[in-house]
Amino acid sequence: MVKTINHWINGKEVAGKGTRKSPVFNPATGEQTGELVLATVAELDVAVQAARKVAGEWANTTPLRRARILNKFLNIAETRAKELAAAISAEHGKVLSDAMGEVQRGLEVVEFATAAPTLLKGEYTENVGTRVDSWSTRQPLGVVAGITPFNFPAMVPMWMFPTALATGNCFILKPSERDPSPSLLIAAWLKEAGLPDGVFSVVHGDKEAVDAILQHPGISAVSFVGSTPIAKYIYATGTAAGKRVQALGGAKNHMIIMPDADMDQAVDALMGAAYGSAGERCMAISVAVPVGEGTAEALLKKLEPKVRALKIGPAHDAEAEMGPLVTKQHYDKVKGYIDEGVKEGAKLVVDGRGFKMQGYENGYFLGGTIFDHVTTDMKIYKEEIFGPVLSMVRAKTYDEAAHMINVHEFGNGTAIFTRDGDAAREFAQSIQVGMVGINVPIPVPMAFHSFGGWKASLFGDHHMHGPEGIRFYTKLKTITSRWPTGIRSGAEFVMPTMR
Ligand code: NAD
Repeated sequence: MVKTINHWINGKEVAGKGTRKSPVFNPATGEQTGELVLATVAELDVAVQAARKVAGEWANTTPLRRARILNKFLNIAETRAKELAAAISAEHGKVLSDAMGEVQRGLEVVEFATAAPTLLKGEYTENVGTRVDSWSTRQPLGVVAGITPFNFPAMVPMWMFPTALATGNCFILKPSERDPSPSLLIAAWLKEAGLPDGVFSVVHGDKEAVDAILQHPGISAVSFVGSTPIAKYIYATGTAAGKRVQALGGAKNHMIIMPDADMDQAVDALMGAAYGSAGERCMAISVAVPVGEGTAEALLKKLEPKVRALKIGPAHDAEAEMGPLVTKQHYDKVKGYIDEGVKEGAKLVVDGRGFKMQGYENGYFLGGTIFDHVTTDMKIYKEEIFGPVLSMVRAKTYDEAAHMINVHEFGNGTAIFTRDGDAAREFAQSIQVGMVGINVPIPVPMAFHSFGGWKASLFGDHHMHGPEGIRFYTKLKTITSRWPTGIRSGAEFVMPTMR
């Protein structure tokens, strides 16, 4: 049965009024399971008006009260994590254990945001002048919006809204149209936790809804996560409309394997980082860079049989290590990159194109793939593939490997596997990438640090969640105060200086 997926506006599900529709599929079977009615400009406006009506009251709700609501939401979501994970897997396709991991990492940001009263404490200086005191506060922006990608339909929204709500903003979420259902569970649980109607809304849509967000004068800031061309567009358009924007884009993450690395550890790390979630992670490792021919041969010898033995299956198969790709269109795109790599002359060591999942022949399953002897001028090296395809680029020296990373368009995540402290330190200090792992393949910062890449992986000045998230969703105000006993008589026309 095909279910209709509604918006969530003003504390309840609202049927879409638009005429354009978008199908939602189960990626394991290829069946259509849902239908979205894409939002119009007018529907986005209804959500903004609902938010603006309550924005003042929410901003003045004490941080402690806001934190308690988030805390209740956290408890509800922890208790029903499996339900949320199942909703993710049903439309995204990732295996349930991976979806549970996504929920856990998202809820850690909620946990972080429950510390709002502490996080919002400003600075205070007594006697900046005689009997003059000065302090700073961080105040909410008003109504803010989040536009999110398909690959983490619960975690990426949670990178945004917990901090936005904790700091006193109203939040409008525009989820990916490919896996929209998890956002509605989140909305219902926020309401159950006591969030006032209008403070959090979900508006489903595509470019029309996104453009309406970017142009709406009632929205002060936009958080975006998605591909680089769209991130660039969101940043340019949103800032031109006077909004604060953080727009996180695509990635091509390299892992350097030094000759002294523990090869078994490096191979296990690569397996999870390259093929987990079928490679549909912005922190996936998609390029392995072994240093030295001996390292490359040793790595490949251990890696190849493991990739051939990858357990692929539908989300509910407890044995499965990776599921299908999200849509037929994405499957075709990733498969097209493998065709392209062969044409470009890379050596196809393991070919995932022939993989068929028994009993799920219409699903979007692609086998794990390895290319060796990839060179930096190839399209499969330069562009983000976002699938279970690992490219191996052999480097002669550490410097050659690091240079490759530094000049790459993207700078989201990277890792080095080594026992050499000098090499690791040099890597951490000088590599031109936002998130760096030393013997850690997917260095996603915890909620109380901030997440974000460099170069074409992020447009804007703020990373997400952690201290940067607090700064993004608040405006700094500094107050200087003097009481009558401290006021000198007579007008002063020179620049005020403190005595
Ligand atoms: P996408 O860019 O296609 O879509 C992201 C969002 O933008 C969706 O909500 C979509 O509806 C909207 N959108 C799509 N086309 C648009 C257009 N022309 N105009 C306005 N809005 C548009 O990305 P995706 O395929 O959903 O997600 C995968 C991408 O996200 C990958 O590139 C991945 O690297 C990236 N990603 C990055 C991070 C990060 O932290 N840097 C995290 C997760 C995903």
